[in-house]
Amino acid sequence: MTMIDLHTHSTASDGRLSPDALVERAAARGVTRLALTDHDTTAGVPAARRAAAEHGIDLIAGAEISATWARRTLHIVGLGLDIACPRLRDGLARQQQERETRAGTIANKLARIGLRDGLVRARVLAGPGQITRAHFADLLVADGLVRDRQQAFKRYLKPGRPGYRRTVWAELDEVIGWIHAADGQAVLAHPFGYGLSRTWRRRMVAAFAEAGGDGLEICTGVSSMEQENQSARDARHHALAGSVGSDFHSPEQFWLDVGRLRSVTNQLTSVTELM
Ligand code: AMP
Ligand code: MN
Ligand code: MN
Ligand code: MN
Repeated sequence: MTMIDLHTHSTASDGRLSPDALVERAAARGVTRLALTDHDTTAGVPAARRAAAEHGIDLIAGAEISATWARRTLHIVGLGLDIACPRLRDGLARQQQERETRAGTIANKLARIGLRDGLVRARVLAGPGQITRAHFADLLVADGLVRDRQQAFKRYLKPGRPGYRRTVWAELDEVIGWIHAADGQAVLAHPFGYGLSRTWRRRMVAAFAEAGGDGLEICTGVSSMEQENQSARDARHHALAGSVGSDFHSPEQFWLDVGRLRSVTNQLTSVTELM
């Protein structure tokens, strides 16, 4: 019996658990194959690997890489990465630089609505990990400017809101190129998570397949059966493999805990078979 989860976060980006605590939790919940996929970094992988060896889990080195497509941001999960690959490392370094610059702008914008020392505090919160909008959301909550993370995004951090800054991530085909250079598989994350119409979602999946993508995330921590069936059809149509990943960030989000997933329909090739 294998239980797999191919999309999770740690303190190397906006997850609450350290890489080893994440692995421990996954092991306790019966996960046998786990991918660590932090935003634009593989920094947590070595620690996760050590913990995985202790717990007898198969750890897959991954990253969730932000990509620009049609002026939108997509998330591409790279799985089975050679984290020493120079092209991947250069690419991620560029994204990390962009995250730093963006954090400064976001902090300045949020200062206008009353958030003090945003950049310094976001750095402290992120520690050695990547700063994400989720960190700013937590600061807004801590200062009582919003009720929760959800409201922070809705009021301040989403496109069109006062704390939003348009970010120019690498183009979709470039990101897929880095993943392939590192011998990895490229998976389009949470296809229903971008707020796209049916038409635009179809265009996105087609563009991803056209750009050389390998797999589509079918089951996520929040996908409905209907969405999973639709994604499975889309994957078959474009000859993409299927992937499953909770997108686990924190034990507080009990509804999408690590490893709590349906498995991909047997009519699809699992992306793990490609690795
Ligand atoms: P970033 O990559 O810095 O733009 O941050 C994106 C991250 O913010 C996502 O991976 C989520 O973890 C989080 N996020 C995005 N939208 C929301 C939302 N509406 N509510 C809560 N968290 C969100
Ligand atoms: Mn996140
Ligand atoms: Mn994502
Ligand atoms: Mn994610």
